[in-house]
Amino acid sequence: MVRTRFAPSPTGYLHVGGARTAIFNYLYSRHTGGKFLLRIEDTDRQRFRPEWVDAILNGLRWLGLDWDEDVVFQSRRLERYREVAEELIRRGKAYRCYCTPEELEAEREEARRRGVPYRYSRKCLHLTDEQRRRYEAEGRKPSIRFYVPDDREVVFRDLVHGEITYNTNDLGGDFIIVRSDGFPTYNFAVVVDDHDMGITHVIRGDDHIPNTPKQILIYEAMGWEVPQFAHLPMILGPDRQKLSKRHGSTSLEEFRLQGILPEALFNYLLLLGWSPGDNREIISREEAIRLFDIRDVHKSAAVFDHNKLHWMNSEYIRSLDDEELVRRLKEYNDYLKRKGEGYDVSDEHLRTLVRLFKERAKTLRDFFTYGVFVYREDFPYDPKAVKKRLKDPNIFAYLRELADRFEALDDWREERIEEVLRSYADELGVKHALLIHATRVAVSGMAVGPSLFFMLEVLGKDRVVRRLREVERRATL
Ligand code: GLU
Repeated sequence: MVRTRFAPSPTGYLHVGGARTAIFNYLYSRHTGGKFLLRIEDTDRQRFRPEWVDAILNGLRWLGLDWDEDVVFQSRRLERYREVAEELIRRGKAYRCYCTPEELEAEREEARRRGVPYRYSRKCLHLTDEQRRRYEAEGRKPSIRFYVPDDREVVFRDLVHGEITYNTNDLGGDFIIVRSDGFPTYNFAVVVDDHDMGITHVIRGDDHIPNTPKQILIYEAMGWEVPQFAHLPMILGPDRQKLSKRHGSTSLEEFRLQGILPEALFNYLLLLGWSPGDNREIISREEAIRLFDIRDVHKSAAVFDHNKLHWMNSEYIRSLDDEELVRRLKEYNDYLKRKGEGYDVSDEHLRTLVRLFKERAKTLRDFFTYGVFVYREDFPYDPKAVKKRLKDPNIFAYLRELADRFEALDDWREERIEEVLRSYADELGVKHALLIHATRVAVSGMAVGPSLFFMLEVLGKDRVVRRLREVERRATL
């Protein structure tokens, strides 16, 4: 049975690269009817903070990536790593190294001086028991090094990149697997964990390709079965540099704050390195589970395009039915409130926002920023709009008269509202656009927005009439 895992280091919010890795692991396990596991790589005590663990778990839940079995924490497995390290020593595959940081630095300095790449001298490979006792008596704490055999080929078939070969001479020498403080290094812990968790497919970013031969050597030294590897292409910014803060938001948290729907982000990340084989771009989770195969992942880097994500998000917004969208807006607003932001809106307001902006909103945030005039009577007036659309010397008199005529209209429907406005413009002998633009600014404070007569109908007669009467006082303060 296929068993995949996602193994983030809790040193920050989940970013798009990590989320994409999680999605591919999730999809491959679901596609094959296997299991998707989660492991927290929290042995780097300097960089690790416990709140990041929650941030990662929440991010995964938000994306709908439900994992199987209990979460594995590396920090709770230190005993097990020591046990395997001892076994490697017994098998002659690893040895204790008592060199001090100063001694190692001197070796490095020597390599620099001679202009050759540094590798550990193996000074501690053949220590006698006597020497070892002496070092320990001095209070030296040993690290444990893995013995890397000389001049051997390590070959693996990567499911994305094909066959990859390394010579052991190019791996930088005998590497440390347990540091002198007793903590395992990444390359060692990952092998022990993947073996113990029964991982069959290691799917991760291709920055880990150079680590893979070292890990394979450890599997072989323990006589363990080597899993399959699939290394995912990098994600770049539009300038083809590695995606970073410079290119805008990169963490799930930021996208959530912007009002991106999780299903839209899921769909978007899915296409970074994979496609269903035709030109379709909107692919549901269920379809992705049906179609996804790790062997179809592309080798070349993928480019992250914020505009495309926003386009996709607007497609997903439009595809939700109105009641569901109201529910999502509410949930989003609650989330913003927990973050110390959020808007003061009723369910009625939300329904109005959905009617007015569903067709044009690119994010959930857009509903609230475009629609301030829906949920606040003290909405602001855009000074540019006021200057441009309310400059006719008679405009406020016209709007007052229009308010009276609207008030007298019993049948408050789009078409009837339009008739009243247009016939009044005809009576005045002014362009219809003069009243149309002025009315829009008066009731919404803005120069652009949804179709005017529809908007007036949705806002309701009372509010429209009141705003037409108040605009002179409020907009010219
Ligand atoms: N903690 C590692 C990372 O976040 C995991 C790498 C792996 O999947 O082996 O890059």
